[in-house]
Amino acid sequence: MAERDSFTPPPFEPGTVWLVGAGPGEPGLLTLLALHALKSADAVVYDALVDPRTLDLARPEAQRIHAGKRGGKPSPSQPDISDRLVRLAREGKRVLRLKGGDPFVFGRGGEEALALVAAGVPFRVVPGISAGIGGLAYAGIPVTHRDSNSAVTFVTGHDSGGEVPDGLDWPALARGSPVLVFYMALKHLAQIRERLLESGRPASEPTALVSKASTPDQRVLETTLGACVADAAAQAIEQPALLVVGEVVRLRAGLDWLGAAEGRVALDPDPLRVKTQREAG
Ligand code: SAH
Repeated sequence: MAERDSFTPPPFEPGTVWLVGAGPGEPGLLTLLALHALKSADAVVYDALVDPRTLDLARPEAQRIHAGKRGGKPSPSQPDISDRLVRLAREGKRVLRLKGGDPFVFGRGGEEALALVAAGVPFRVVPGISAGIGGLAYAGIPVTHRDSNSAVTFVTGHDSGGEVPDGLDWPALARGSPVLVFYMALKHLAQIRERLLESGRPASEPTALVSKASTPDQRVLETTLGACVADAAAQAIEQPALLVVGEVVRLRAGLDWLGAAEGRVALDPDPLRVKTQREAG
């Protein structure tokens, strides 16, 4: 007799919206609930960041609607997207709102969910693997490591107007957070670098830019805070990309599992020794 599955997803009811995180790119990083939603939805409303391979998992007859937003741009169409979700749900559809990474991390998922609340449309939230954690893991960079940092801060490089957020307390960030992970950082990279240097982070600090993490086009640039702007331009690093500043970047020498699996690099079992030597000396 076949064993019963230990996991039975909740039914995707007609007339409801599921607000689902698609992870950083690689379809294998979807949750079981995300896959269930893709297999059940009548309409899929997706962002530019959602990988085409993930979208291919939707039912062939599902309506596919590109919400057409690019990360970080001011989005006059946000109310339109929310209205669209409400309308589709009121038509009795199973509406999958699919967003890159996690819907509640720099993704306006909260705004969309509140619009559903206001309209009285029932919804469910399915978290996803955020690029700032899972994308960095694909680059071989853990966001925390006991020998390096016991705190990490996630920061957006854009505010809702598309500028470097003014409300940020840069000196406090620079002093208080050993590792800083910036989303949407490419456009304002020069300003971010400037503010961190002014606030006391050393120009020599290990820094990486991770572009298109977990996709076949993933690229990782290891550099320093001082050199990151020039290096990113020279290497033509493209969106979407994350900026990570902190000692954890050194761990990549030991943890670039993808590079090792592809035979490109040999892993160093003691990647933090440079730091230890420096502190000792
Ligand atoms: N909700 C998403 C973030 C949306 S903001 C999440 O949780 O991941 C968009 C930003 O996310 C991009 O500008 C970039 O900084 C980052 N991002 C998303 N996917 C990425 C990827 N595959 N590789 C690198 N950065 C990514």
